[in-house]
Amino acid sequence: MAAMADPEVDVLVVGGGPAGLSAALRTARYDRTALVLDAGDGRSSWAQVNRDYLGFPGGVAATELRARGLEQLRDYDQVQVVQGPVDGAGRDGDAFTVSGGGRTARGRTIVLATGVRDEFPRFGGWEHTVGRSMFWCLACDGYESRGQRVLVLGHTGETAVEALQLTRFTRHTTLLTTAALDGDLRAALAEHGVEVLEGDLADVVAEDGLLTGVVTTSGRCLPVDRLFTKIGMRPRSELARQLGAEVDEDGYVCVDAEQRTSVPGVFAAGDVTRPHAHQISAAVHQGSQAASAANVHLYAPALRGG
Ligand SMILES: Cc1cc2nc3c(=O)[nH]c(=O)nc-3n(C[C@H](O)[C@H](O)[C@H](O)COP(=O)(O)OP(=O)(O)OC[C@H]3O[C@@H](n4cnc5c(N)ncnc54)[C@H](O)[C@@H]3O)c2cc1C
Repeated sequence: MAAMADPEVDVLVVGGGPAGLSAALRTARYDRTALVLDAGDGRSSWAQVNRDYLGFPGGVAATELRARGLEQLRDYDQVQVVQGPVDGAGRDGDAFTVSGGGRTARGRTIVLATGVRDEFPRFGGWEHTVGRSMFWCLACDGYESRGQRVLVLGHTGETAVEALQLTRFTRHTTLLTTAALDGDLRAALAEHGVEVLEGDLADVVAEDGLLTGVVTTSGRCLPVDRLFTKIGMRPRSELARQLGAEVDEDGYVCVDAEQRTSVPGVFAAGDVTRPHAHQISAAVHQGSQAASAANVHLYAPALRGG
């Protein structure tokens, strides 16, 4: 972690994705100081183009959105951005502390915007396909799948439901799974023309991050344009736990409608919390809301309003 200049800021923001950058912007707009600490390896760091975020005809690459957010923050002296992972978080008197790379930063409040870690199948060159031809989110990438040959990979009943929902976009949907599907699901898949293959992914054929085919563990070769995977995601909530904030049974940070966690002065926003949809629009809104709640928290009680 590079130098951390100010001894204590109003809001420490961990995570520089859409949620964290939005929190920093809102904090600056209250004329308060923020320090953003970012490891740079979140969901918004892959190659996908977001075509559902309002105001960007033709879509905007997630990485460009981040770059634009950082550029926007440069207008505010109140905000400092430091690259590098935060390894630890704790309390020091009334202040919160975060540490990483041998350095420590202090803040009067903290916003956790650390996102989730997706599990993707690890074939050779897998990282070049994420956001190009390998996806996980139907709401985000179902539309561009219209008429495409789609393989849905995952080993729970939820994956079978995703395959069924994808048939709204394409009739060429195949499910590859080791899950023991119940009779109703099997009947629905057959009715909607979804072929079910038992097994896992053995290999893929891809060029420049674009899939053209897959090979299953049973040796079946399939021509495929797009792969939707549902093999797991893990909220990056370690820092929340260290601070004593409540997390749910899946590890998502529990927040109220104003993004307050169970620990006063600690807020969380974006995918690390459990919104109905993990989306840029939700992350941006929640980051802004978390900063607004932090701003209220920073006022003396008599000035907080009703
Ligand atoms: C392939 C793909 C396609 C998608 N398509 C769309 C789409 O079309 N539309 C849409 O709305 N959404 C889409 N999404 C989802 C969207 O990217 C996420 O909902 C969004 O990025 C969440 O923002 P966030 O700020 O909460 O988390 P992230 O974007 O994951 O950012 C979290 C940041 O926190 C940092 N971080 C985590 N832990 C630490 C730590 N300990 N110390 C320092 N930094 C840390 C990470 O490095 C990262 O930079 C897609 C996602 C993927 C993967």
